[in-house]
Amino acid sequence: MPKSAIKYSQYRAKREFRPQSRTRGYDRQWELLARSFRVEFPLCRMCLDAGVTRAAALVDHIVPVVIDPSLRLEWSNLQSLCRLCHAKKTAEDATKYA
Ligand SMILES: [Zn+2]
Repeated sequence: MPKSAIKYSQYRAKREFRPQSRTRGYDRQWELLARSFRVEFPLCRMCLDAGVTRAAALVDHIVPVVIDPSLRLEWSNLQSLCRLCHAKKTAEDATKYA
């Protein structure tokens, strides 16, 4: 079996283990909004604040959806982040909203 096939099966296993994006609250409306937001803000905001130019990998909710679901589709509650900053922010949120 080629090496990539093994990786793909692991990827599939992970995907199947994780609940579908729709059941996690990320519907079509969110997908469209997040896509538009990343077109408008393609760089990581936290990196920019630190003087670093890095492409964003995803759109983050500044106030997490679990804290205030009403801000889920609120443009002003969004920020583009790279994966590193998103991991950092998620860890900070866990403390902040504990
Ligand atoms: Zn970043």
